[in-house]
Amino acid sequence: MRLATEVVQFEAAPGDALHPSSTPIYQTATFEQESPTEFGDYDYSRSGNPTRTVVEAQLARLDRAHAAFVHSSGMASLATVATLAKAGDEVILGDDLYGGTYRYFTRIVEAQGVEVLHVDTTDLDAVADSLCPRTRLLLVESPTNPALRINDLRALAELSHSSGTLLVVDNTLMSPALCRPLELGADLVVHSATKALSGHSDLMAGAVCVADPRTAEAVAFATNAMGNALGPFESWLLLRGTKTLALRVERQNRSAEELAARLASVPGLGVLHPSLPGFSGRALHFSQAAGGGNVVCLSTGDPAHSAELVARTRLFRTQVSFGGLTSSISLPYHMSHASIPESVRAERAFGPDLVRLSVGIEDVDDLWDDLAQAMERWTGSRQPAAEEGLVQR
Ligand SMILES: *Cc1c(COP(=O)(O)O)cnc(C)c1O
Repeated sequence: MRLATEVVQFEAAPGDALHPSSTPIYQTATFEQESPTEFGDYDYSRSGNPTRTVVEAQLARLDRAHAAFVHSSGMASLATVATLAKAGDEVILGDDLYGGTYRYFTRIVEAQGVEVLHVDTTDLDAVADSLCPRTRLLLVESPTNPALRINDLRALAELSHSSGTLLVVDNTLMSPALCRPLELGADLVVHSATKALSGHSDLMAGAVCVADPRTAEAVAFATNAMGNALGPFESWLLLRGTKTLALRVERQNRSAEELAARLASVPGLGVLHPSLPGFSGRALHFSQAAGGGNVVCLSTGDPAHSAELVARTRLFRTQVSFGGLTSSISLPYHMSHASIPESVRAERAFGPDLVRLSVGIEDVDDLWDDLAQAMERWTGSRQPAAEEGLVQR
């Protein structure tokens, strides 16, 4: 089956004689056992909960994984994956990653005796030089956030496996609707389900999807041991969000492409979106993903202009995060990525003038009008509105 069918066609309540069409929320901490020596499928919700089981099975299915695990946030999922590396092991991080990921690995994982390397993973020779038998994990995003650089996931999987390393892909930006890294050879996929998977900006959640049973067992063990699994109600909200994933992503992806094309015709703006003809890594991206995603990045060349653009938009609200129903706008340098030290940010592929747009499900012409009025002051003229027919698709 295809995604649009899979997200709504699944067994909502396995084993429930009443056959409800929506999964019940098992809002319970404990489950009574048959006897002191005979146990049912569930005993304690930290270890397992039927509502969580349904959403985990559904996410495993969407990502073509052996198993999936949901946690209290994307960071909790990443922290769970980090337990696969022990003191003395090495972890390689792509050098453009979500700020919180950078912070967790450099401040916490490194302090536990794991060596953390930062490598430009778009340079395969650099990756090959850095991999060694101690390298337990290679963690990348593609496109990276916020610089939208493309990693060659098939090649990275091959390289990792040649040194016994697990390739972990943080697939938050794409979601399984646009990219399935496990099919390209990755070993684990991490999602901040706070973003596109849930889609409504109404919960914090994370997911880990695992290709092989042995690694899945290690992730299950860590989840139970750490006690960071997603609660029953959030599991239900996440499951409900995933039902509209295909519809939302289709609309948001189309609108993002449309806006990126219109923005690219504004003089003086640098526009980044994988769908744009001049986008570096475009062919590679579309060889591993079905769309460019709902994030469009702009550089104005002037941090003051960028700050003004962010301040002047009305539909694009000033907030972090992406993948939600409503459009948002942010300055990653000052917001989502502020936890990366200034010296490191300075040498990264993005500067303080980078503006990140997350395109929601609103009418695309309303979104364009909002951006056009916000850019009016510094471009010196009103940008042509869509209805004037001046902008070609
Ligand atoms: C938001 C985000 C995270 C962290 O997820 P939370 O749900 O906020 O904990 C990790 N990776 C990426 C790419 C993100 O965008």
